[in-house]
Amino acid sequence: MLQKLHWFAGPCSIESSEQWAEVSGALLKLGVDTLRGGIFKMRTRPESFQGLREEGIKLILEAKRKQGFQFISEVSTPQQVELMAPIVDIFQIGSRSMYAYELLKEVAKYPQPVFLKRAFSATLEEWLGAADYCRANDSNKEVWMCERGVRGFDENFRNMLDVNAIAYIAQETPYNAVVDASHATGRSQYIEAGTLAGIAAGATGVMVEVHPNPSQALSDADQAVSIETFASLKTKADLLFEHIRSGL
Ligand code: PEP
Ligand code: MN
Repeated sequence: MLQKLHWFAGPCSIESSEQWAEVSGALLKLGVDTLRGGIFKMRTRPESFQGLREEGIKLILEAKRKQGFQFISEVSTPQQVELMAPIVDIFQIGSRSMYAYELLKEVAKYPQPVFLKRAFSATLEEWLGAADYCRANDSNKEVWMCERGVRGFDENFRNMLDVNAIAYIAQETPYNAVVDASHATGRSQYIEAGTLAGIAAGATGVMVEVHPNPSQALSDADQAVSIETFASLKTKADLLFEHIRSGL
């Protein structure tokens, strides 16, 4: 078990250099380990914001030059893997791409760890099979297994957080389990509850979408939490993890 929780936080999408400067500065001060931010977005509707794309890559290159930080972002095609390799420290595979085996084989060629989101209908066997593709027989390759909610039947929530899956990954596999209550609940006021439940189940990583002005977010606005809300959530989650780790 990791000695401390690993935090992945940032906006759903990188929208502008001002938004990135504000949110990244605040999150680094709060002790976030890896900043997230979508650059090539996988959206349900083609008319929705698709990410800053090449402009976003330049923005992160520039930002990293000014202040070093660890960065994670989603790739959904082999071409994006090549474009993003110079700026990402961890490749994120999105829920919609977990079954894209040629993409998984491509990320396996790079030294960066992989953050593998569970497809919203994937069995644990399918998810673990995808992890094997990402490792390509390299047992030292780091893979983070992110539970981000499976498709449920209740329309109040975007998805349903599967805490069983987190416990299974934590207890039965060599991987670190990550809880992403942002996509699992889809509603900002439930993200703290989902995060704490995930940690209680064995998660050693947490992903949260944070926006300096949540209602204005260009993607996933309903689940974006403010920097202040994130700070309070993080304090509680770190305390819970510390209690569990010390066996209290
Ligand atoms: C995301 O992290 O912004 C995202 C699109 O997540 P998922 O692939 O879990 O839907
Ligand atoms: Mn999102």
